[in-house]
Amino acid sequence: MSETRTHSPREKITRLRRFFLERLPERLVAARALLERLKADPVDRDAAVDLHRHLHNLKGTGASFGFREFAEAVAQGEGLVATVLEQPGEPPADWRERLLDFLDALDQAAVPVCSLEEADGCRDADGFTLLTDGRPGVPETGGRLVYICDDDGLTLEKLGSQLACFGYETETFLTPESLYAAALGRRPDALVLDIRFPTGPDAGITLLSDLRRAISGDPVPAVFLSARDDFAARMESVRAGGDAYFLKPTHISELVAALDQLTHQQKPAPYRVLIVDDETEVADYHALILQEAGMVTRQLDRPQRVLEVLEEFLPDMVLMDIYMPGCNGHDLAKVIRQVPNHVGLPIVYLSSEPDRKKQFSAMRVGAEGFLTKPVVPDELVARVSVLAERMRILRAHMARDSLTGLLNHTSTTHLLERSLAAAGRGTSPLSFAMIDLDRFKLVNDTHGHLVGDQVLLALSRVLRQRLRATDVIGRYGGEEFAVILQDTAAAAAAALIDGLRRDFSRLLFHSATGSFRCTFSAGIAGHPPQKTPERLREAADRALYAAKHGGRDRVVVDGAEPPLRDEP
Ligand code: GH3
Ligand code: MG
Ligand code: MG
Repeated sequence: MSETRTHSPREKITRLRRFFLERLPERLVAARALLERLKADPVDRDAAVDLHRHLHNLKGTGASFGFREFAEAVAQGEGLVATVLEQPGEPPADWRERLLDFLDALDQAAVPVCSLEEADGCRDADGFTLLTDGRPGVPETGGRLVYICDDDGLTLEKLGSQLACFGYETETFLTPESLYAAALGRRPDALVLDIRFPTGPDAGITLLSDLRRAISGDPVPAVFLSARDDFAARMESVRAGGDAYFLKPTHISELVAALDQLTHQQKPAPYRVLIVDDETEVADYHALILQEAGMVTRQLDRPQRVLEVLEEFLPDMVLMDIYMPGCNGHDLAKVIRQVPNHVGLPIVYLSSEPDRKKQFSAMRVGAEGFLTKPVVPDELVARVSVLAERMRILRAHMARDSLTGLLNHTSTTHLLERSLAAAGRGTSPLSFAMIDLDRFKLVNDTHGHLVGDQVLLALSRVLRQRLRATDVIGRYGGEEFAVILQDTAAAAAAALIDGLRRDFSRLLFHSATGSFRCTFSAGIAGHPPQKTPERLREAADRALYAAKHGGRDRVVVDGAEPPLRDEP
């Protein structure tokens, strides 16, 4: 909404209700006009359809703003028009009289609604509670202490050093007893525990219960690692109070994501919800409820633009009205589902349709749920949160690389196309950098693949920590990364990446074979002059090739001379 932040949500809702009341007489007049058309021509199906929708919306909006009796009165008229619509041929004899009676009754019903509003100001709509943002506050950036316990020394070392690459302070323990003793001395921020130990098949679980009893305060978050994928094992871990469960071998990026969340290292971005409803007041009201819960909303009253808006707004879920002019919710859901990118996008219908059978058939078209207007705010927030979160997880799996958690090749390419299109519309420059580790095969050959993975993780971490949140960072191929820097000209991008190059080359890695350093080369291309994603990629690739051939450990800008490099 374009509302300013100076109004409290309650004031905004008051204004929405007042606006509804101001428009009410006009809407009743419109209903009468439609009825007049029907009187003149009883088989004017368009007029009947319009009248039905008009009443349906009036009922939904009235109910949403808490005017329950009024909404019930409107519902009777809606039902009457529905019978006329559903019966083929001549409508029942007395239907016009009944409708006229209904409209008179409606005028009567509207009187108390309006005067009540004036008499006691704006009462809260039924079931309305203002929701406050219950999320954790500002993320803490300091290193968090994680204790890891596994009787397999190799797994333990690998997890310890990988988590350290992600900024965690780690301590590793081979036995539950040693971890227990350490935790009593210094409380960790999170635990990563194997379940099975030589001392018992569920020694990890026992360890957690013992620890939680022994350490006061909030329970320490715990992640279980297990080789067992069966239901019983998972159930046992949940009963023991485990916050997450990962199968071995564990994807480090998933483990880090869980730990980040459990220790509030990263405040999750707010859920994004698209609300499609031709009734803007109701959409405003629902948007307000979701915004109060910390979500970002976008409203769309013309369903015809839905694909465009989905592409641009990237919602985590869609709330959709069923009855809209020119198109209904079911068809709209089908249109959305035809686009491969949106197959998994959760859609929830929001309608004043009370008929269970109709609700059910609506869901068959592939919606995830049905909420009846007027919604209970808490229920709306709860349903939306669950579905949006699921979409987040699904999307992360599809779009991200499992080792580093960076965007995968497909997503990076997709975002390059989008960023370039956006840059092309405006005047701001954009840079594309390709980064490739130097002689990485040698690292693998000398120190082993696991150590090679740690170098990849360290580079991804450096990129993530040092670039802006708006920059796109992807793992383009095995040991090749791509970065899209928006609003950044090639020269500035080169200076930035060169700073990263220098810092990265100073990191010291350790392996059984010895300690070593690693470097990367980068090629950078810009828009302008490159206009298409293909040209941009080719130019960056060309520059990367020049950097490799110029001796590696340097950054080259396509078409610029000489390449940046350190003085010896
Ligand atoms: P250059 O400086 O010319 O880039 O030499 P290079 O050795 O880095 O390049 P080359 O393309 O010959 O080898 C890339 C190596 O990257 C080979 C492959 O085993 C390794 N690699 C690719 N993906 C992964 C991965 O996920 N983990 C590990 N450890 N190594 C990987
Ligand atoms: Mg509607
Ligand atoms: Mg390489």
